[in-house]
Amino acid sequence: MSPRPAQEPSAPDRQKGALAASRTARPDVALLPKAHLHLHFTGSMRHSTLVELAALRGVHLPDALVEDWPPRLHATDERGWFRFQRLYDIARSVLQEPDDLRRLLRETAEDEAAEGSGWLEIQVDPGGYAARFGGLTPTVELVLDAAREASEATGVGIGLVLAANRTRHPLDAKTLARLAVQYTGRGVVGFGLSNDERRGRAYDFEGAFRIAKRGGLLSDPHGGELLGPASVRECLETLDADRIGHGIRAVEDPRLVERIVERGVTLEVCPSSNVSLGVAATAADVPVRRLYEAGASIALGADDPLLFGSRLARQYDLVRTEHGFTDAELADLARQSIRASAAPGDIRARLLSGVDSWAGL
Ligand SMILES: [Zn+2]
Repeated sequence: MSPRPAQEPSAPDRQKGALAASRTARPDVALLPKAHLHLHFTGSMRHSTLVELAALRGVHLPDALVEDWPPRLHATDERGWFRFQRLYDIARSVLQEPDDLRRLLRETAEDEAAEGSGWLEIQVDPGGYAARFGGLTPTVELVLDAAREASEATGVGIGLVLAANRTRHPLDAKTLARLAVQYTGRGVVGFGLSNDERRGRAYDFEGAFRIAKRGGLLSDPHGGELLGPASVRECLETLDADRIGHGIRAVEDPRLVERIVERGVTLEVCPSSNVSLGVAATAADVPVRRLYEAGASIALGADDPLLFGSRLARQYDLVRTEHGFTDAELADLARQSIRASAAPGDIRARLLSGVDSWAGL
C-alpha cells in the first residue's frame, strides 16, 4: 500500500477553520487599557539596560543577573529574601547618573504603553538613592522630573508612590511621609511600605501613614505576601490602607476578606512575583479567582519585572490561562485597576471607555 500523500485541506475546510479560529481567538490583553499600580523603580528596569549600564559603570553582575537570568529565588525564608534583596541592591547600583534614572523611567513608560497601561504608579524608596543623588529631596525632584519627561514622551500618565523601608526606623518613615506630602498634587500620589514583612510590623509605621493620609496621599503598604492575615489586618486597621501590595494571604481568613470588600480596599496581586519568590508554587495557586469571586477589588501588577522576567500583560494572560478568566472578567479587572488608581478624571474616563471597546461593549 502506498502511503497517502499529506492532504492539504480543501478551500471550504480552510474557510471553516479560519472561521472557527476567529471565533475562538481572544483579544490581546496587551491591548486592554489598564492601570499599573504595583511596580518598583529599579525592578522595572529592562534587563538589557541593566547589562548595558553595568558594563558602562564597571559594576560586576552575578550570573543570576546575566546568563542565569531571570534568577531562581525562594524568598519565603529569610536567606532567600536576603538573596533577592542583594540582587535588587546590585541592580540599583548601576543607576549612578541622573540620566540613568531618566532612561529607566522613559523605557519603563515605553514598555507600559506597549502593554496597554495608560497610567503607572511607580514605587520608589528615595532612601535607596539619596546618597548618590544629593539627598532625599533632590532624589524625589529628579525622579518627578524624569517621570514628567517619560510621560510626555510616551503618553503614559505616571504617579509616584514614595515607599518607606520597613526594616529601617519608623522615624525615617515619618521623615519620608513629611517629604511625600509636600508633593501631593505635584506627582506624588501615595505612600507605601516595602521590604521584608517579617522584619518590620505595619503597626510601627502608624505615625508615618497618618501624616501621609492627612496630607492627601493614598495609603498603599505591602502586606499579606510573606505573612498571613494578621499582617493584612494591621495594614487595614492601623495604616488605614486604601490599597494593599499583594494581600493575597487575606484569603486564609474569610472574615478579613469580607472586611476588605466592605472597605473597598484594592489588592495589588502580582502572580509572577508570587511564583518567583516561592509565595505560591504555581500561578494557578495564587488565589486570584477566590479573591475575585469574594468581591475583592484586584489590580494586577508585575512588581519587579527585572527579577521575575515578566511584565504587566503577562499577569493578565496568566489569570486568563490559569484561572479561566473570561474576557468580560479581564475587562472587569482592568476597570478595577483604573478605579483604584489616583489617575486624573480625564485619564480614567479615557481608559475606562477603552476597556469597553476592548470588551466589545
Ligand atoms: Zn512590591
